[in-house]
This record gives sequence, C-alpha cells and structure tokens, in this order.
Amino acid sequence: MNRRQLIRAAAAAAFLPPVTRIFGRAAAQPVSRVRPGDPAWPSAARWDRLKRDVGGRLIEIRSPLGVCRDDPVGLPCDELFGELKNPYYVGDDPALTQTAGWVDAWTAQPSVYAVAAETAADVAAAVNFARDNNLRLVVKGGGHSYLGTSNAPDSLLVWTRRMNAITPHDSFTPQGCAAALPAVSVGAGAVWMHVYNEVTTRNGRHVQGGGCLTVGVAGLVQGGGYGSFSRQYGTAAASLLEAEIVTADGAVRIANACTNSDLFWALKGGGGGTFGVVTRLTLRTHELPETMGGVFTVIRAASDAAYRRLIAQFVDFYADHLLGPHWGDIVTLRRDNTLTIRMTFQGLDRRQAQAVWQPFLGTVVVSSDLGFASAPRIPDIPARHIWDPARLRARNAVLVDDRPGAPPENVFWAGNLGEAGHFLHGMESLWLPRSLLQLDRRAQLVDALIAATRHWSVELHFQKALAGAPADALAATRDTATNPALLDAFTLVIIGAGQQPAYPGLPGHEPDMETARRQAQAVVKAADELREVAPDAGTYVAESSFFERDWQRAYWGPNYPKLQQLKKKYDPGGLFFVHHGVGSEEWSADGFTRLE
Ligand SMILES: Cc1cc2nc3c(=O)[nH]c(=O)nc-3n(C[C@H](O)[C@H](O)[C@H](O)COP(=O)(O)OP(=O)(O)OC[C@H]3O[C@@H](n4cnc5c(N)ncnc54)[C@H](O)[C@@H]3O)c2cc1C
Repeated sequence: MNRRQLIRAAAAAAFLPPVTRIFGRAAAQPVSRVRPGDPAWPSAARWDRLKRDVGGRLIEIRSPLGVCRDDPVGLPCDELFGELKNPYYVGDDPALTQTAGWVDAWTAQPSVYAVAAETAADVAAAVNFARDNNLRLVVKGGGHSYLGTSNAPDSLLVWTRRMNAITPHDSFTPQGCAAALPAVSVGAGAVWMHVYNEVTTRNGRHVQGGGCLTVGVAGLVQGGGYGSFSRQYGTAAASLLEAEIVTADGAVRIANACTNSDLFWALKGGGGGTFGVVTRLTLRTHELPETMGGVFTVIRAASDAAYRRLIAQFVDFYADHLLGPHWGDIVTLRRDNTLTIRMTFQGLDRRQAQAVWQPFLGTVVVSSDLGFASAPRIPDIPARHIWDPARLRARNAVLVDDRPGAPPENVFWAGNLGEAGHFLHGMESLWLPRSLLQLDRRAQLVDALIAATRHWSVELHFQKALAGAPADALAATRDTATNPALLDAFTLVIIGAGQQPAYPGLPGHEPDMETARRQAQAVVKAADELREVAPDAGTYVAESSFFERDWQRAYWGPNYPKLQQLKKKYDPGGLFFVHHGVGSEEWSADGFTRLE
C-alpha cells in the first residue's frame, strides 16, 4: 500500500464504527485512531462518564515541564531538573518517563488523560473506553521503558502506579491448579525495591526481580526480567505463577499454568503493553542463601597490548571459574583501557569469593603494565539485608528519595543515577553464545571485544544470560516466550550512550544532537564488531536498540509465530500497541493507523 492509499484507508476508517469486542467483526478492518480535535474525539460528557466510572480517578495530564516553557532559566525549572534525577519523583508523575527520549527515535510526550487505576475495575473501564472510542491506549507502571513504549501523545494512559499492594504467601495455589508454592502477589504498579523489602528484609525469602530498584514489576516480568541472581533462579518471568489481566474485551482474566495457559505463557517474556493490562502478578519465592556479596575493582592497563592480555586473562578466568549459578552482574571494558568489575555473588561467603578471585587478581599484582585504579573490595552481607533500606541508608550505600514525607524505603543504587531522566544517544545489545568460550574460539572473542572497545565502552551483563544456570532455572526459563538463545548465552552485551535530562524543543534544555548522533554511530559500530563473531545473536527486548533489525527473531526467536497467534486471539483489534511489540508490524510507527 502506498502513502496515498494509506491516507485514503485511514480517512475511511475514521468513519467506521468503533472496534468492538474481542474476536469482533471490525477487528480486521483498517482503523485510524482518533486524536484530540478530531470529530470523533470523545465529548467532555463522555470523559465525565469515564471519570465517574473510575471513582474520580481520571486525570487530565499537565506536564511539569510547563514551568520550563514559561521560564527556562527560572528557579522552578531548575528545581524540576533537580527532581528529574530522583527516579521516585519521575515515577510519581504520570506525565514523565525515566528516559526522556532517544535521538531520532522518540521523545517523551504525555497522554491527554490518565486513569490512575486502583482496581482491576478501573482498568477495565479505561480499556472499554479506549476501545469503544477508538483511542490510542498506553500502559505505564514504573515508566522505565528505554524504547518509549509507555508513553504516546494524544492517548489515554492506564497508570498503575497506585496498584502497589504486596502480599507474601507461605503457600499459593494458582486458580485451577493443585500444586502450592511459597509466593508473593504484587500489584502491577509496584517497584522492585518495595517488593524486595517485603519479601527479603521482612520475610527472609528471595523473589527474582530486576537489578534497578525503581523498575516496575509488571513491565520487567513481561519483558523476561533479570536481576543479580538470575543465574541461580532464572528470569523473573520464569517465576511467574499467575497473573490477573484485563484483556482488550474488558474482561478480567486469570492466567496461570492451568487457566488461560496460552496467555500465561505469552505474558512470560512476550513483552509489556501487548496482551492486555496486567493488574496483579503472583511470583514464586525462593529460599534465601545465607550470604550475598560483590567484587568491586578497576584495573588499568598501561598499553593496548597489556589491555588485550588483561581481557584475554579475564575471559579465561570467567570461562573457568565464574560461569555458574553463583555469579552475576557487570564488567565494563572501557575505551581508555580499563576494566571495571562490579560483580555480585550469592551462596558463597567473602572468603570463598576471595579464593575464587585470588588467581586472577594475583596476575594484576605481578604485572608491571597492569595496576589497580581502584583496589579490589570483596564484601559480603547476610542475604536478608541486601535490600534492607534502614541498613543501606545507615551505611550510605544508596541514594534516597529526598522529598519531604517520602517513605524511608524509597532508595536506589547510585549506579542507576546516571539513567534517571537521561536522554539516550544509542543502545545496542546482543547475547553472546557460550560456544565463544571454547578454547579454540576465545582469541576470536577477545579480538572482537577489543575491537568493540575502540569505538565505545562495552558492558557484559552476566546475569542476563543463563548458560551455567542450574537445570531447574533453565527448565523454568525455557517455558517462557523469551528467545531461547538466552539459555545458551554466557552474557548479554549492552553498549549505551546518553546525556543528562534533556528534551527536544524545550528551550535551554535541548539535547546536544550532534554529540548524540556521533555517539549513536560509535555505539552501533562497537556492536557490529561483536556481531562479526555472533552473527545470529538474539537480544533482550527491554534493553535493546530502538532500531533493532529483525526484532521479531532477535527478541523471541522461534516463539514469534505462536506469540502472533496469541496476539490475534486476545487482541484482534490491536488495541495494545507498542514499538516493536508482537503484532506491531500491522500498525504505523505511532500506533495510530492500521496498515494493510
Ligand atoms: C534505569 C533502568 C534500569 C533497568 N534495569 C534493569 C534490570 O536490572 N533488569 C532488567 O531485566 N531490566 C532492566 N531494565 C529494563 C526494564 O526491565 C524494562 O524497561 C521494563 O519494561 C520496565 O518496566 P516499567 O514498569 O518500569 O516500565 P514502563 O515503561 O512503565 O513499562 C514498560 C513496558 O511494559 C508495559 N507495561 C507496564 N506495566 C504494564 C502492565 N501492568 N500491564 C501491561 N503492560 C505493562 C508498558 O506499556 C511498556 O510497554 C532497566 C531499565 C531502566 C530504565
């Protein structure tokens, strides 16, 4: 279909009756969604009715950035830009997103209205309203989508932030099933810090979530989801026991292994904002190990040759000693010939971890052209306290939500500060297969890693790939929609660049586009060096390029056709659209026009 035909089809579609029910007649017909100012945009009376239906919880959104439009250099604008570095502040405003935008990809733009949902009935009312009035609908929980999938201009937002109840269960039986397991039920808008505090600090159990404490639970689980200890427990999606979800027909459904099991599988990694609005998730909890800890150091090489030797030694060390369930988190290979190690461990104590690392750290000590830019530290902590906000605050180990009256458990890692409110220049990611660690391939891997670092710094996220995980974690993760390539990968490479909060079109606060585009190219070139040795690599939907080529295969591999079928079954009208989500190829890039 050419552009002219598309416009004609879109114009005709504007006069079609609203998309009706699930499996409904109008589902396959062209649709052009309505925008404010269009004749079909709901009247004030209709919005009022929705407001009544949701107990008054309909918000007409005003962006706080308005103060900067009024006075770009005034104190209120300055203060706002200070607040944009507090991820809890950003999360508490329906107009804002944790990523401000991405050069030549997307810019944060608030919806027209939001339903600040508190119940599944609120969500159902919003879904029915959006469907019946042919509106663009978006869903936002923690607001941490890098790809901008939880915001869209001219849309209605379902905002789940207030649905944040957390209920641990000694024993939970999914509806219609027989087996019972320890679990936790979590409202869709909860963030991981609050879940960890309840499950681990207060109840001495582990729930597999994300590393960043302010990421939303529903978004992370539907993307797959990885945290420091995923190598032991599998992805977050693998621990999902049950979800409550409002589908496009407005029905509140339970999905688990025994009821709506196909939908349940799709929710485990099939991507957020695609199959409905999840209102509650119940996740399996796991036994907590005695101790958890970390290995922190920065090693500097005096020359390119020394750096290559260092990386080769690290790859050998990793392959021989760290490719197992105990180890996770990140090693960064920097352009300035430094290796930054920020790895975590569980199920070992400090002494055991030191013994593992001694041979590798010893080689640095005896090498004249290598040195520690930051001396190695290998602390451990009783696992129960790893997310204990009181203890973390007392030791200055976290940054805090410093707004007056903020809950004391609102803390976050300093490592995530850089990403609060950031504007992205580029992000590329790929899983590296375990086969690259075979003795005869290691030199090739090292060469590719070094070549990549000549363009941009490279992060290896070991907890986001499951080679070396225990059989039960692998089996549970295999039974999810995520690309099975992750089961056989030893790391997820992430290469990213960005700048501090900036908004295109906001005077005095616009991003430096020239730098952004230059760095974006460097990021792509770095990833391409690694694609030379891993040409068919898949990647993690939630931490990937906006411009991902062949995204269906990269995110879901052989699972994509089944996901497409399920999308057609549960959302035939395409009410739920996200960039590079299942079924999104049937829509224009902005999600407003159905393509033929
Ligand atoms: C700073 C930062 C750190 C991160 N760290 C990690 C990490 O350690 N591990 C990891 O695995 N990932 C990580 N991510 C990626 C993150 O897991 C995903 O971006 C995730 O989707 C964010 O979920 P959210 O609810 O916070 O975001 P949102 O932007 O609110 O939502 C993300 C997507 O899920 C959809 N969605 C949200 N809630 C619902 C719901 N209730 N029902 C249906 N769809 C919904 C949205 O429509 C959107 O498409 C990180 C991201 C950022 C920005």
